[in-house]
Amino acid sequence: MHLPTLLVTSVMINLLIAGMLWAIYHLRHRERCFKLWALACLTFVLGTGFAVARELLAAPVLTIFVAHLILGISPLLLLAGIHALMNLPLAGNRRSAQLLYTAGVLYLLGLAVGAGLDPAFARFLTALFSALVFSLAIYRLGSIERKPRLPIVILQGLFAVHGTLMMAQVLVVIASAAGQLQPDIGPLLKLILINHLLLVSATAMALPLLAFSRAERALVALAERDELTQLFNRRAFYREGRQAFVQARENRKPITVLMIDLDHFKQINDRWGHAVGDRVLRVVAGLMASELREDDIIGRVGGEEFAAVLRNDTGEGIGQVTERLLSRIVEAGRVIEEAPVHLSASIGGVTLVREYAGFEDMMAAADAALYRAKRNGRNRAEFIPASVTAE
Ligand code: GH3
Ligand code: MG
Ligand code: MG
Repeated sequence: MHLPTLLVTSVMINLLIAGMLWAIYHLRHRERCFKLWALACLTFVLGTGFAVARELLAAPVLTIFVAHLILGISPLLLLAGIHALMNLPLAGNRRSAQLLYTAGVLYLLGLAVGAGLDPAFARFLTALFSALVFSLAIYRLGSIERKPRLPIVILQGLFAVHGTLMMAQVLVVIASAAGQLQPDIGPLLKLILINHLLLVSATAMALPLLAFSRAERALVALAERDELTQLFNRRAFYREGRQAFVQARENRKPITVLMIDLDHFKQINDRWGHAVGDRVLRVVAGLMASELREDDIIGRVGGEEFAAVLRNDTGEGIGQVTERLLSRIVEAGRVIEEAPVHLSASIGGVTLVREYAGFEDMMAAADAALYRAKRNGRNRAEFIPASVTAE
């Protein structure tokens, strides 16, 4: 392909994508990573512009030193955006910041000393510096433990290709300087430009995906989780419960619904204060999460009311689970925030049998059992026997 055409295309695409990222930045409450990525595209355009001007101007400070400095800043901005996305300082943690500062200073010195002598040397330094920055970006992306992994892997792949091409450029420059070959740098430059075009386009698609999947997870957590205990809130609990109910009926496997209400919680609040009350709620939520199984559904369905859906269990097993839970709650309540709060809970339980028409019916039956547990003296569990609950 004609090199000038390629350059113009590259500049246009970078400008378009910078515009898109800038728009996303404004639409997404000025999330900083998008601004940094937009600037990365713009600096690439600017640097390319200055470098191309070499054909027309005899101003090496501008067309070599400044041009390459700006081209070196472009991948730095990309990396800074990734750091911003991960809530790290822009230069990353201390180790990567030290590495970047050292490499940056060496790069700057190298450019200042060598750029006047030979544009190939400046290209060599920029390629080396960019390869280092891309390696850091790959490493940093690898430490993200977030799902989905796909945008992360795509980005890593793209950065790896780009870094490799940069290193190829370094090797070519070294080889030609050593006088071993007189390569025509044109084809390699074209390859790098084409790859850069692909890289910028794909990056521009994958980076927002990464940012959006993070935002989506935060929003879902906000919509589904109870802020105090991080358990499912009432709405999410009912949705999950209904699903479990339908599955259980289809697979003819039992599920058990438990309603758990703390005893005389109002007195705890009155005696020890609301903050201790909140702490109690968090402690109980933690106990439920640790005592029940991974695939059980746990929610906070009211102020001091919790509920759980236990899968695939028999009546005896459930009895043991509830007894253990009750005694753990009493144990934990001996001292909470240095207060002997005298905590206990009452539990109402019901196991799915065919006469229940829906999950709400099971919840109502569990609530009736809970009421009985309260009436019978609290700090106990009551279960609705299957035969009595038929409607
Ligand atoms: P019972 O044994 O009959 O269940 O008595 P109780 O005092 O636990 O029940 P009641 O329904 O009378 O009081 C519940 C209390 O829970 C009243 C309310 O102030 C308190 N509460 C509800 N939500 C929260 C919360 O988020 N934090 C705190 N600290 N207290 C809460
Ligand atoms: Mg209550
Ligand atoms: Mg209560």
